[in-house]
Amino acid sequence: MSDNFTGKQADVVVLGAGIVGVSTAIAARQRGLSVILVDRREPGSETSYGNAGVLSSGSILPLNKPSLFSALPTYMTNRHAALRWDPVWTIRNIDWVARFLANATTSRVKPRATALHGLIGASLNLHREWIVKADASQRIRETGWLKVWRSDAVAAAKGEQAFLAEYDIASELLDRQAISALEPNIVPVYKVGLLHTQTASVDSPGEVVKAYARMFAGSGGAIRQSDIKAIIPDGEGWRVVLADGAISARHVVVALGPWSGDLLRPLGYRVPMAFERGYHREFKPNPARALQRPIHDAEGSFLMTPMEQGIRVTTGVELTARDAPSSFAQLDAVVPVARGVVEFGEAVGEPWRGSRPTLPDSLPMIGPAPRHPGLWLAFGNQHIGFTTGPATGAAIAAMIGRAPPPFDVGPFSPSRYL
Ligand SMILES: Cc1cc2nc3c(=O)[nH]c(=O)nc-3n(C[C@H](O)[C@H](O)[C@H](O)COP(=O)(O)OP(=O)(O)OC[C@H]3O[C@@H](n4cnc5c(N)ncnc54)[C@H](O)[C@@H]3O)c2cc1C
Repeated sequence: MSDNFTGKQADVVVLGAGIVGVSTAIAARQRGLSVILVDRREPGSETSYGNAGVLSSGSILPLNKPSLFSALPTYMTNRHAALRWDPVWTIRNIDWVARFLANATTSRVKPRATALHGLIGASLNLHREWIVKADASQRIRETGWLKVWRSDAVAAAKGEQAFLAEYDIASELLDRQAISALEPNIVPVYKVGLLHTQTASVDSPGEVVKAYARMFAGSGGAIRQSDIKAIIPDGEGWRVVLADGAISARHVVVALGPWSGDLLRPLGYRVPMAFERGYHREFKPNPARALQRPIHDAEGSFLMTPMEQGIRVTTGVELTARDAPSSFAQLDAVVPVARGVVEFGEAVGEPWRGSRPTLPDSLPMIGPAPRHPGLWLAFGNQHIGFTTGPATGAAIAAMIGRAPPPFDVGPFSPSRYL
C-alpha cells in the first residue's frame, strides 16, 4: 500500500498521541505504512502523562471482580479513598453501572484475566524493546511493584499470589522485616507485602511517550498538532477534519482515550464508556529517604511512585462526568497517610486530574468498527493503559496489515458493544 496507490495523504491516520496512539503509529510504520499521528497537544500530555508509571505484569483482574460486592457497603458511604461516586452521574449512567457490576461475577473472572494476560504479556515485551530503541532505557526500573497491607492480610496476599501463579506471574510474599529490607526508607507500618517481581515502572510516563513519539518521527512518521473536529467516510477511505485543515487516509484509528466516544457518536456508535477519574500530586523527595519502586497501599487506596520530579501520590477512583469540576477530597485524604509512610517535602506543581477510560467489562476495544471498513478502534484501556498501550497498537497495526495480532484479540472486539 502506498500514498500514490490509494490516492490518499497517508495509509493510516492515528487520532490521539497518548500511549495507545503513539504505539499504533510506531507499529504501523514498522509495517511499512505511511502514518500521520494527530493530537491537539504534544504526545503524552494527557492520561498517559499523569498515571502512576507502573508497567504491571499482574493487573489481570480488573476492578469489577467478585470482591467488589463485599466492598460495596463501605463504598456506598461515599467517604472511602478507593471510590467516590457522584449520585447524579450514577443515576444517569445506571445502565453502565449495572453492566459493570454484572461483569464482577466469578464466571467472568477467568475469561477476562486470560484476555488481559495475553494483552499485558505482549505489551511488556514491546515496552522493554521500544524503551531501549527510543533511547529512554534510563527511565525504566526493573524493581517490581510492592502491594502492602497494614492488617494481617496474609490470606488475601496468598490468595492473590496463588491466582497470579495460575498465569505464571511471579510474586513474593513478604513480612514486615522483608518489606523493610526492600524499602529501608519507609516507616515499618506494613505487616504484609506482595512484591510483583515481573512488574517494572518508569520515572516519567509522559517523557516515555514523548521518546516513543520521537522514535516514530525518526522512522519517517508524521506528527501533526491540531484539534480533530470530525471523521467522515470518504470514498475508499476517510477524511479527518481538523481545526486547520483536513487529512485523507485509507485507514483511521481512533485512539483518543477518554475522548474516543465523542467523535464516534456522529457515525452512529454510542460507546459505553465511563471515566474512572484519578488524581496525582508530586512532592519533593528527601534524597536520604528514596523509594525504590511504586508502593500500593492496599487499605489506604493510594500509590506512591518515585518519579523524575518527585514522589507522585496517585488516588483511587472518582466516578463522575469526565469534565466535571475537580474534587480534591481523595488526594486530601491520602496525602497525609502517604506522608506517614515516607518522608517527603512540599508539593511540586499543581494537582493533576485524569480519566481512566473504562468499558463495562474493563477490557479495551481493539479492532475494526463494526459498520465502517477502514475505521479502527483502540481505546478503553482503564487502569492499565500505560502498560497495555504498545500491544493495543501493535494489534491494530497487524489487523490493518492483515497479519496475526500478537495476542488473542477476540475478547476485545468492538462488536461486543457497538
Ligand atoms: C490516576 C491514574 C493512574 C494510572 N496509573 C496507571 C499505571 O500505573 N499503569 C498503567 O498502565 N496505567 C495507568 N493508568 C491508566 C493509563 O494512564 C490510561 O489507561 C492510558 O494513559 C490511556 O492512554 P490513551 O492513549 O488511551 O489516552 P490519552 O493518554 O488520554 O491519549 C488520548 C489523546 O487524545 C487527544 N485528544 C482527545 N480528543 C482530541 C481531539 N478532539 N483532537 C485532538 N486530540 C485529541 C488528547 O490530547 C490525548 O493526548 C492510570 C490512570 C490514572 C488516571
